[in-house]
Amino acid sequence: MDQILKPTSMRVQQFAGLAPGPRLVVLGAVHGNEVCGTKAISRLIDEIEGGKINVERGTLTLVPVVNPLAYQKKQRQGDRNLNRNLGIKLHPQDFEDHVANVLCPLLAAHDVLLDLHSFHTAGKPFAMLGPVNNADELEPFKLAREEAQLVAHLGPRRVVDGWMEAYTRGVKRRRDSGHPFAPALLDSRYGIGTSEFMRAHGGYGVTLECGQHEDPDAPKVAYHAILQTLALLQLARIPLAPPRKQFEQLTLMDVIDRDHADDTFARQWKSFDPISAGAEIGRRFDGRLITAPSNGFIVFPNPKALPGNEWFYFAQTSMRNI
Ligand SMILES: [Zn+2]
Repeated sequence: MDQILKPTSMRVQQFAGLAPGPRLVVLGAVHGNEVCGTKAISRLIDEIEGGKINVERGTLTLVPVVNPLAYQKKQRQGDRNLNRNLGIKLHPQDFEDHVANVLCPLLAAHDVLLDLHSFHTAGKPFAMLGPVNNADELEPFKLAREEAQLVAHLGPRRVVDGWMEAYTRGVKRRRDSGHPFAPALLDSRYGIGTSEFMRAHGGYGVTLECGQHEDPDAPKVAYHAILQTLALLQLARIPLAPPRKQFEQLTLMDVIDRDHADDTFARQWKSFDPISAGAEIGRRFDGRLITAPSNGFIVFPNPKALPGNEWFYFAQTSMRNI
């Protein structure tokens, strides 16, 4: 078998405006097979270098490929999912630990994050929104208004919230199951990814899911979102389009793992497919049915999930309106 040399660096491109302003960081390929952000960032770098777009204010930091090993492998992850349990590792073990130790200080040095992703099954783009302002232990936050304003300008109308709450339930279920999970999968901070890390370090951040991995429109969605973020934050003189209205907003209620390679879905779910209370979602390897706990939606179904990892999420219509 060919030995693949692991990458040893991450490209970080920074444009510092000569006038003061907010510090924005834009990420691509946190997951290696999600390259819409990489393409959009590359296009933007060309346009800035070509003089078509001028960063005048604040700081724009662009990281086209955050996880170079996963990108090289054309896979979601190198050794593990970088976008979970994200934090400084005093004793880095795997490749993603080393990336995290570079990425986390970089995030903490910025005010705003736009993290560009794509997804597995066909569907419309959507943004992941953080919590309302709160002082709870799970995810305290004071910048919900600013974050919602950014989401309103990114383009997509579909918005998903409730990430950390869903993971609190999912991780509790892992603990209660008694299965021998790796310790990281049982950590209450398991749900912390890039935007959660930003919120925990004085900033705010949005994860934008720009379309299906292969969708030729996904890089355009990503590019439009970056430009509108630059316009909103006034880092460059770009016309700001009016905010979107009539959002379709969902709250994640739970995340369910695939426990076994023979756990199967009842049908080929697409993300955001509606489902009625009691309807069959799938079946465990031993025949146990998994049914919808209420009327809701199947979100982020991954029929190829590795056992012990997230298989699908269950969502309900959100009580919030961005
Ligand atoms: Zn992703």
